[in-house]
Amino acid sequence: MSHVRQTREKFEDLFIPEPNSGCWLWLGSVYKDKKGKETYGRYGKRCKLAHRISYQKYYNVELNSSQLICHTCDNTLCINPEHLYVGNNQSNMDDMVKRGRSARGRGNAKITEEQARRIKYGNEPVKLLVRELKISKSSIWYIRAGINWSYI
Ligand SMILES: [Zn+2]
Repeated sequence: MSHVRQTREKFEDLFIPEPNSGCWLWLGSVYKDKKGKETYGRYGKRCKLAHRISYQKYYNVELNSSQLICHTCDNTLCINPEHLYVGNNQSNMDDMVKRGRSARGRGNAKITEEQARRIKYGNEPVKLLVRELKISKSSIWYIRAGINWSYI
């Protein structure tokens, strides 16, 4: 029964590494968009996009539907997680670079300015700040290094 065979196919067996580009080329089913322009690898009964699955498996994250996985290599059949990044609807590489550069100032606005000052000028242990403000260690580091919230 073809159905059984399909579900037995392992995700990991469905691509080949391409030595020149480093791309992992998808060999399984393919999904084409309405215009027949965009082609993506497709996997499983519910037709998940192969590169999304690859990203989730590799980075061990759950993606929500607003998070698109984009390719740095422009090869839509590539599922190499190192060629993939999370973007929004209209995002592209330029956008990402721009955002990276402008991640100064407010950057990560999960905290208030008052809290940012407390992090920057206070001597509280990082652990305590992480727990209390529910932000990451690196956010604290960025603030203390003057990369984020540089104007305060
Ligand atoms: Zn690639």
